Amino acid sequence: MADEGEKSLAFHEMGLDDRLLKAIASQGWRHPTLIQERSIPLALEGKDLLARARTGSGKTAAFVIPIIQRILDGKQAAKEQAVKALVLTPAKELCSQAYKNCVALSSCCSREVRCLDISGSADITSQRPMLMEKPDVVIGTPSRVLAHIQGGNLELKNSLEMLVIDEADLVFSFGYEKDIKTLLGHLPKIYQAFLMSATLSEDVQALKKLILHNPVTLKLEESQLPEADRLTQYHIKCEESDKFLLIYTLLKLRLVRGKTILFVNSIDRCYRLKLFLEQFSIPACVLNSELPVSSRCHIVDQFNQGLYNLVIATDESALDAEDSSMKDKTGKAKKKAKRFKKKKDKEYGVSRGIDFQFVSNVINFDFPAQVEAYIHRVGRTARGDSQGTALSLISAQELSLLQQAEDVLSEDADNPVIKPYRFKMEEIEGFRYRAKDALRSVTKTSVREARLKEIRSEILNSEKLKSYFEDNPRDLQVLRHDKALAASRVKPHMKNVPEYLMPPSMKSNSSVITKRPQHFQGGRREQKRHKKRKEDPLRSFKYRKEES
Ligand code: AMP
Repeated sequence: MADEGEKSLAFHEMGLDDRLLKAIASQGWRHPTLIQERSIPLALEGKDLLARARTGSGKTAAFVIPIIQRILDGKQAAKEQAVKALVLTPAKELCSQAYKNCVALSSCCSREVRCLDISGSADITSQRPMLMEKPDVVIGTPSRVLAHIQGGNLELKNSLEMLVIDEADLVFSFGYEKDIKTLLGHLPKIYQAFLMSATLSEDVQALKKLILHNPVTLKLEESQLPEADRLTQYHIKCEESDKFLLIYTLLKLRLVRGKTILFVNSIDRCYRLKLFLEQFSIPACVLNSELPVSSRCHIVDQFNQGLYNLVIATDESALDAEDSSMKDKTGKAKKKAKRFKKKKDKEYGVSRGIDFQFVSNVINFDFPAQVEAYIHRVGRTARGDSQGTALSLISAQELSLLQQAEDVLSEDADNPVIKPYRFKMEEIEGFRYRAKDALRSVTKTSVREARLKEIRSEILNSEKLKSYFEDNPRDLQVLRHDKALAASRVKPHMKNVPEYLMPPSMKSNSSVITKRPQHFQGGRREQKRHKKRKEDPLRSFKYRKEES
């Protein structure tokens, strides 16, 4: 086993095909990321790799680039079309992301290199004809790939040259151990393999033994999160009930600017927050494991295109917590848990791996129960070479969780990484009545109705997405996921902030608040601005920041 220490190279020094270099350039990538610098040359030498790389490090391209290069290299000698590479990921969204990377990086050689994502919710038999064409790269979850092999739709034993398992540390915990072991029996004896993983956990070590032969291990010396000059982390300690007041004012006063992911710890809470914000005409999409996979992918796509500014999401650790809290409760709650659990998708993963682009802020409306989840959530911002801010709202019950995160992330106890954001709550006192009033109308029944309404409409959307929108990609824009869910009408006066409620220090800014802010229109302009704006997106907080 070797370790890293190889010389770093630019893309054009890696001996890559011109078509691949052109596609890389068209992505706007000027230099390889650390993981790409290290892994691409080794992969091109034919080495097996075990790479630990943090989320957002560019690890997808780190395996996609050598795959495409090797396929191009082999094309001239190839006698017949065959599946050469198999990419396994534990979640459908991750498959879709790997697929998009593959398509983008093979855009200048799309005749020579064809990829297929078989993870979606489409029927197995409907995917058979596409597999019969033997795409060069097949991407899927282990169970879906195995189903195709066992159904006689996919044959890998005689052709496969490369195997990738992405987010390898999640593969066993997502319940794929048996599938992987069975699947290995259908692969040839010799192939090159890559394991990409955020951690080198015991599960990954087990996979390593199963899959890799004499691998090079890349334990990149990266911190778990981007450095402080790129990622600013804050917390605000508050009463649980003040979280709603805070988020309303932060958003309405545009103290939080740019694309934002709001993380909550349960699906009900997603809808509670959405219904609450709706009353102030603050549109948001919800993203959770209950929604059909095509809707989820579509929401992420549209968010990345700049159509939405605000997504309220749960992550998989939160769902586990929700399940267990539901289990602890009464028989009625148990029934409810069973009903909703049935619909949840075990292959769902929002905080892990999914490539949300140009995210200015991650806000932990609820603090995650595990430090790992904090890292993954916060890692959604400050990706590539951009800047970002993370803000956590901390209730008294969450103080110990914040401390746990600090213990892991801070090297110096006197200099915490997650800085307190002190500002004067009394400045927003005037908003309390409105927030309370709005929250009062978000009842358990309205949350439940919204949850069911959303699933129903997204199932319909999902059907539409599958057929019509495949043929009419331009019309995709028409289908929005941030429509209001409340049964009752939103009171128009709640949309605006009257002058008398404005914090004194912000009065000069008041004209912008009643208008739909420009960045809420999203799109390329915001994305460009985000790239250009090398400053703290929560900068407006400065207006009342106290010295700590
Ligand atoms: P990943 O870690 O694969 O999810 O990638 C995270 C993000 O980094 C994606 O949005 C990629 O488009 C972007 N990315 C990948 N490689 C590079 C690169 N060499 N330069 C800049 N951005 C990159």
